Amino acid sequence: MRGYLTERQTWAISPVLAFHALEFDVMERPWTVCLVYANIDSTSDETGDEILYAIKDALWHDAKFTSLYMNNTSYTGPLQEAVLTFTNTFELLYAGYNVTFKGNRPQVWVLYAEPFATGKDFWEMDEAEKAVRTYISKKEFFVDGAKVVCERRTCVTCKTTTHHSEECPFRKANGWNGPTMGVNQTIEALSKKNAEEKQSPGPSRRRR
Ligand SMILES: [Zn+2]
Repeated sequence: MRGYLTERQTWAISPVLAFHALEFDVMERPWTVCLVYANIDSTSDETGDEILYAIKDALWHDAKFTSLYMNNTSYTGPLQEAVLTFTNTFELLYAGYNVTFKGNRPQVWVLYAEPFATGKDFWEMDEAEKAVRTYISKKEFFVDGAKVVCERRTCVTCKTTTHHSEECPFRKANGWNGPTMGVNQTIEALSKKNAEEKQSPGPSRRRR
Protein backbone atom coordinates (compact mmCIF):
# COMPACT_ATOMS: atom_id res chain seq x y z
CA MET A 1 0.00 0.00 0.00
CA ARG A 2 2.78 2.41 0.95
CA GLY A 3 4.57 1.67 -2.30
CA TYR A 4 1.41 2.21 -4.27
CA LEU A 5 0.74 5.60 -2.66
CA THR A 6 4.33 6.70 -3.18
CA GLU A 7 4.13 5.68 -6.82
CA ARG A 8 0.90 7.64 -7.22
CA GLN A 9 2.37 10.61 -5.31
CA THR A 10 -1.06 10.93 -3.82
CA TRP A 11 -1.93 10.89 -0.13
CA ALA A 12 -5.50 10.74 1.04
CA ILE A 13 -6.20 12.17 4.49
CA SER A 14 -9.89 11.34 4.22
CA PRO A 15 -12.28 10.26 1.44
CA VAL A 16 -12.63 13.98 0.65
CA LEU A 17 -9.19 15.44 1.32
CA ALA A 18 -6.10 14.30 -0.59
CA PHE A 19 -2.88 15.94 -1.70
CA HIS A 20 -0.19 15.36 -4.29
CA ALA A 21 3.54 15.82 -3.86
CA LEU A 22 5.12 17.85 -6.66
CA GLU A 23 7.91 20.36 -7.07
CA PHE A 24 6.91 23.83 -5.94
CA ASP A 25 6.71 26.41 -8.72
CA VAL A 26 8.36 29.60 -7.45
CA MET A 27 7.00 31.55 -10.43
CA GLU A 28 3.41 30.86 -9.37
CA ARG A 29 1.59 34.08 -8.47
CA PRO A 30 -1.10 33.84 -5.86
CA TRP A 31 -4.16 36.09 -5.74
CA THR A 32 -5.80 35.54 -9.10
CA VAL A 33 -8.66 37.88 -9.92
CA CYS A 34 -10.00 35.93 -12.90
CA LEU A 35 -9.25 34.51 -16.32
CA VAL A 36 -9.57 37.05 -19.12
CA TYR A 37 -10.72 36.03 -22.63
CA ALA A 38 -9.68 38.24 -25.53
CA ASN A 39 -10.51 37.77 -29.22
CA ILE A 40 -7.39 39.64 -30.28
CA ASP A 41 -4.91 38.10 -32.72
CA SER A 42 -1.89 38.83 -30.58
CA THR A 43 -0.48 37.73 -27.29
CA SER A 44 2.40 40.22 -27.22
CA ASP A 45 3.34 42.24 -24.14
CA GLU A 46 1.89 45.32 -25.87
CA THR A 47 -1.48 43.60 -26.30
CA GLY A 48 -1.34 42.57 -22.64
CA ASP A 49 -0.66 46.20 -21.69
CA GLU A 50 -3.63 47.35 -23.80
CA ILE A 51 -6.02 44.86 -22.20
CA LEU A 52 -4.73 45.69 -18.73
CA TYR A 53 -5.16 49.42 -19.34
CA ALA A 54 -8.73 48.86 -20.59
CA ILE A 55 -9.55 46.97 -17.38
CA LYS A 56 -7.96 49.58 -15.11
CA ASP A 57 -9.54 52.49 -17.02
CA ALA A 58 -13.03 50.96 -16.76
CA LEU A 59 -12.57 50.42 -13.02
CA TRP A 60 -11.27 53.95 -12.43
CA HIS A 61 -14.53 55.26 -13.90
CA ASP A 62 -16.83 52.85 -12.10
CA ALA A 63 -18.39 54.49 -9.04
CA LYS A 64 -20.02 51.23 -7.96
CA PHE A 65 -16.64 49.50 -7.99
CA THR A 66 -15.06 52.33 -6.01
CA SER A 67 -17.65 52.12 -3.25
CA LEU A 68 -17.48 48.32 -3.16
CA TYR A 69 -13.69 48.50 -2.88
CA MET A 70 -13.80 51.18 -0.17
CA ASN A 71 -16.29 49.10 1.84
CA ASN A 72 -13.87 46.20 1.86
CA THR A 73 -10.58 47.89 2.70
CA SER A 74 -9.31 49.98 5.58
CA TYR A 75 -7.74 52.50 3.18
CA THR A 76 -8.81 55.95 4.34
CA GLY A 77 -7.22 58.22 1.69
CA PRO A 78 -9.00 59.87 -1.23
CA LEU A 79 -11.21 57.51 -3.31
CA GLN A 80 -9.34 57.87 -6.59
CA GLU A 81 -6.00 57.35 -4.88
CA ALA A 82 -7.31 54.24 -3.14
CA VAL A 83 -8.51 52.62 -6.37
CA LEU A 84 -5.28 53.64 -8.12
CA THR A 85 -3.20 52.07 -5.36
CA PHE A 86 -5.14 48.84 -5.82
CA THR A 87 -5.04 48.76 -9.65
CA ASN A 88 -1.29 49.50 -9.54
CA THR A 89 -0.87 45.98 -8.16
CA PHE A 90 -2.59 44.43 -11.19
CA GLU A 91 -0.66 42.12 -13.45
CA LEU A 92 -1.92 40.43 -16.64
CA LEU A 93 -0.13 37.40 -18.05
CA TYR A 94 -0.88 35.31 -21.14
CA ALA A 95 -1.92 31.82 -20.00
CA GLY A 96 -0.47 30.20 -23.13
CA TYR A 97 -3.61 28.70 -24.67
CA ASN A 98 -6.98 29.37 -26.29
CA VAL A 99 -10.34 28.21 -25.06
CA THR A 100 -13.72 27.61 -26.66
CA PHE A 101 -16.04 30.23 -25.23
CA LYS A 102 -19.47 31.16 -26.60
CA GLY A 103 -18.64 30.11 -30.16
CA ASN A 104 -15.23 31.78 -30.22
CA ARG A 105 -11.67 30.71 -29.51
CA PRO A 106 -10.32 33.58 -27.43
CA GLN A 107 -6.84 33.71 -25.94
CA VAL A 108 -6.73 33.17 -22.22
CA TRP A 109 -4.95 35.67 -19.96
CA VAL A 110 -4.78 35.70 -16.19
CA LEU A 111 -5.38 38.82 -14.12
CA TYR A 112 -3.67 39.08 -10.73
CA ALA A 113 -4.02 41.64 -7.95
CA GLU A 114 -2.35 41.86 -4.56
CA PRO A 115 -4.54 41.33 -1.49
CA PHE A 116 -6.02 44.49 -0.01
CA ALA A 117 -8.66 43.40 2.49
CA THR A 118 -8.54 43.99 6.20
CA GLY A 119 -10.77 42.26 8.68
CA LYS A 120 -10.92 40.65 12.06
CA ASP A 121 -10.20 37.16 10.73
CA PHE A 122 -9.38 35.17 7.60
CA TRP A 123 -13.02 34.55 6.71
CA GLU A 124 -13.94 38.22 6.78
CA MET A 125 -10.93 39.11 4.64
CA ASP A 126 -11.59 36.23 2.24
CA GLU A 127 -15.18 37.39 1.77
CA ALA A 128 -13.99 40.94 1.08
CA GLU A 129 -11.39 39.77 -1.44
CA LYS A 130 -13.93 37.55 -3.20
CA ALA A 131 -16.56 40.30 -3.38
CA VAL A 132 -14.21 42.68 -5.19
CA ARG A 133 -12.62 40.01 -7.39
CA THR A 134 -16.01 38.60 -8.41
CA TYR A 135 -17.27 42.09 -9.27
CA ILE A 136 -14.32 42.62 -11.64
CA SER A 137 -14.82 39.20 -13.24
CA LYS A 138 -18.45 40.01 -14.09
CA LYS A 139 -17.63 43.26 -15.84
CA GLU A 140 -17.12 43.54 -19.61
CA PHE A 141 -14.17 45.43 -21.03
CA PHE A 142 -13.38 46.71 -24.52
CA VAL A 143 -10.08 46.95 -26.37
CA ASP A 144 -10.36 48.72 -29.76
CA GLY A 145 -14.01 47.68 -29.97
CA ALA A 146 -13.26 44.02 -29.17
CA LYS A 147 -15.12 42.73 -26.16
CA VAL A 148 -13.00 41.21 -23.39
CA VAL A 149 -14.81 39.01 -20.92
CA CYS A 150 -13.69 37.46 -17.65
CA GLU A 151 -14.46 34.28 -15.78
CA ARG A 152 -13.49 32.87 -12.39
CA ARG A 153 -12.65 29.17 -12.56
CA THR A 154 -11.07 26.56 -10.30
CA CYS A 155 -8.95 23.70 -11.64
CA VAL A 156 -10.39 20.40 -10.42
CA THR A 157 -6.93 18.85 -10.09
CA CYS A 158 -4.85 21.46 -8.26
CA LYS A 159 -7.60 23.84 -7.06
CA THR A 160 -5.81 26.94 -8.28
CA THR A 161 -7.71 29.56 -10.25
CA THR A 162 -5.09 30.27 -12.93
CA HIS A 163 -6.16 27.80 -15.64
CA HIS A 164 -8.82 25.45 -16.98
CA SER A 165 -8.65 21.90 -15.63
CA GLU A 166 -7.61 20.44 -18.99
CA GLU A 167 -4.64 22.82 -19.07
CA CYS A 168 -3.43 21.92 -15.59
CA PRO A 169 0.39 22.06 -15.57
CA PHE A 170 0.48 19.36 -12.90
CA ARG A 171 -1.09 16.85 -15.29
CA LYS A 172 1.61 17.71 -17.82
CA ALA A 173 4.41 17.75 -15.23
CA ASN A 174 7.29 15.29 -15.42
CA GLY A 175 6.57 12.31 -13.24
CA TRP A 176 2.92 13.19 -12.64
CA ASN A 177 1.10 10.04 -11.56
CA GLY A 178 -1.92 11.66 -9.98
CA PRO A 179 -5.53 11.40 -11.02
CA THR A 180 -6.30 12.12 -14.65
CA MET A 181 -9.57 10.33 -15.33
CA GLY A 182 -12.85 10.56 -13.51
CA VAL A 183 -11.83 13.40 -11.18
CA ASN A 184 -14.55 15.68 -12.54
CA GLN A 185 -17.27 13.08 -12.07
CA THR A 186 -16.16 12.27 -8.53
CA ILE A 187 -16.12 15.92 -7.53
CA GLU A 188 -19.48 16.62 -9.19
CA ALA A 189 -21.06 13.66 -7.40
CA LEU A 190 -19.58 14.84 -4.09
CA SER A 191 -20.78 18.44 -4.59
CA LYS A 192 -24.25 17.14 -5.41
CA LYS A 193 -24.27 15.01 -2.27
CA ASN A 194 -23.09 17.94 -0.14
CA ALA A 195 -25.75 20.22 -1.64
CA GLU A 196 -28.45 17.66 -0.91
CA GLU A 197 -27.26 17.33 2.68
CA LYS A 198 -27.26 21.11 3.08
CA GLN A 199 -30.86 21.31 1.84
CA SER A 200 -32.07 18.85 4.43
CA PRO A 201 -30.22 19.71 7.63
CA GLY A 202 -30.98 17.02 10.14
CA PRO A 203 -30.44 17.19 13.87
CA SER A 204 -26.99 15.64 13.38
CA ARG A 205 -25.78 18.87 11.75
CA ARG A 206 -26.72 20.98 14.73
CA ARG A 207 -23.84 22.25 16.84
CA ARG A 208 -23.71 21.24 20.43
ZN1 LIG B 1 -4.49 22.76 -12.14
